[in-house]
Amino acid sequence: MTNYYLNLNAQSNGDHEVHKESCYYYYMYKSGYNFELLGSFNNEIDAVNYAKIKHPEYKIDGCAHCCSKAHRG
Ligand SMILES: [Zn+2]
Repeated sequence: MTNYYLNLNAQSNGDHEVHKESCYYYYMYKSGYNFELLGSFNNEIDAVNYAKIKHPEYKIDGCAHCCSKAHRG
């Protein structure tokens, strides 16, 4: 199980990305952006689905680097 975080700040394309806590991009951006701890999940698909339920107003995508199975592109 891994902790996943949702970026509360949208990317330039309007997406809010989900990251694993071990992700390089999470470490790069955590000081400058607001991240919400989603919790611990077995895989990124479950984490992204949970984020979508929790924030139906957001366009949510998995990070291309750490959540490639949930990344739409
Ligand atoms: Zn990531």
